[in-house]
Amino acid sequence: MRLALDSTHDVGLVSWLESANDPSTDFPIQNLPFGRFRRDADDGWRIGVAIGDQILDLERVGLVPNADMHGLMDQQQAEHTALRRALSDGLRHGSDDAARFRNALIAQTAVEMGLPCEIGDYTDFYTSIHHATTVGKLFRPDNPLLPNYKWVPIGYHGRASSIGISGQSFARPIGQTKAPDAAAPSLGPCSRLDYELEVGVFISRPNAPGERIPIEHAEDHVFGIALFNDWSARDFQAWEYQPLGPFLSKNFASTLSPWIVTMDALAPFRKNWTRPEGDPDPLPYLDSVGNRETGSIDIELEVWLQTPAMQKAGVAGERLMRSNYADAYWTVAQMVAHHTVNGCNLRTGDLFGSGTLSGPAADQGGSLLELTLGGKQPIRLSNGETRTWLEDGDTVILRGYCERDGSRRIGLGECRGTVLRARAD
Ligand code: CA
Repeated sequence: MRLALDSTHDVGLVSWLESANDPSTDFPIQNLPFGRFRRDADDGWRIGVAIGDQILDLERVGLVPNADMHGLMDQQQAEHTALRRALSDGLRHGSDDAARFRNALIAQTAVEMGLPCEIGDYTDFYTSIHHATTVGKLFRPDNPLLPNYKWVPIGYHGRASSIGISGQSFARPIGQTKAPDAAAPSLGPCSRLDYELEVGVFISRPNAPGERIPIEHAEDHVFGIALFNDWSARDFQAWEYQPLGPFLSKNFASTLSPWIVTMDALAPFRKNWTRPEGDPDPLPYLDSVGNRETGSIDIELEVWLQTPAMQKAGVAGERLMRSNYADAYWTVAQMVAHHTVNGCNLRTGDLFGSGTLSGPAADQGGSLLELTLGGKQPIRLSNGETRTWLEDGDTVILRGYCERDGSRRIGLGECRGTVLRARAD
């Protein structure tokens, strides 16, 4: 399952670019994530690789023929690995190509980042059993986990058009809500606005309609991972979700981080996938030796909140929780195998959301819904403010990084979004 480690992962590898060797950077030479940037609105999107505080322009350095990100993602894994090696060779300390590569750098602060690729279909899963159990308890105290959960990687088809890039702001959505004691619903601004801490998984190579992707080959169809915030209107959701699941409570905005960290870069951070004692083994199409040995990915995840008061005081934000992607009940490979077992065809640039990634402890909820026990217990912030749900002007920041003895720490960057006042019209 896991891609081979090679010299591009060496912990001692350093770049001629000093900012890439800063121990705190998310983008050392061992990471090399892909994104799209432009110098200004008149410029077209270009493919870049993050290195330290710079971006390497891949077309300019001659490593891609054009700005077609889908074309790059659609290549065979061996070509992805070869490109990674060429990037690593050119950026490493002592490289003969250093001057040519230096010439193709642009500061990250000098550009606008776009979505890393055109996103086709978007599917949101529900892979954290801790999230599913806590949320289930709020609605069904005696029966928190539905009987299909341990057998089916649950998901629903979402909407790609409203997925934006880190730095976005959006107006608080308007929708239908109904208080339990009200005779009829009413239309108005969401009063229970929430975030969801997720990772986004980008599909690289398609499968033909009718052709399933076996779990053993599932990751041959995955390009990499980014951070993903699936903003949620809990009051709309409670009123609309039965019988067909979430609709307008989820499709007004979602936010992605700009850099896709590749499966190659994540290779040192793979972990065995296990089931708690007593849980059923998955059906054979969702099980493989490779998935058990290295199917999980050890990514530390964090949610930060910056309120308008914090912003005014010059405070960057406060961390609300931490969890780890390796605690997910279902892996990336299982999501791909399940999504295609019926013959559904995936396409290059499709996006999977992992679902809210909560940890096992009560303070590891990946949403306010969990941290406030369904809105019953506000959280207290260190500056004395409290939050039950998001307020106008609040900025939510997701962060993620991989850290392991013997490997260089790599990060996913950040995924930042701000809630604005509801529109008056
Ligand atoms: Ca979600």
